[in-house]
Amino acid sequence: MKNIHPNYHEVKVECACGNSFTTHSTYKDDVMKVDICDKCHPFYTGNQKIVDAAGRVEKFNRKFNRENGNAATKTEDKKAA
Ligand SMILES: [Zn+2]
Repeated sequence: MKNIHPNYHEVKVECACGNSFTTHSTYKDDVMKVDICDKCHPFYTGNQKIVDAAGRVEKFNRKFNRENGNAATKTEDKKAA
């Protein structure tokens, strides 16, 4: 008989915000890294957070010479993440 069942096991999920929890998944590793979770998603926190891993917001602001504006809050968000 073939073993057709995926490896369903306990997986630790680690968020970029520092929060972590365990769940069950067929994910290949024991630890899953995520950028956002229920503890830091703007929907739950009520705060605006720019998810900008590739620096696209920075690029956009540079392109249109928006050096000031909300640049300060953006930097803070980056540090927090
Ligand atoms: Zn998080």
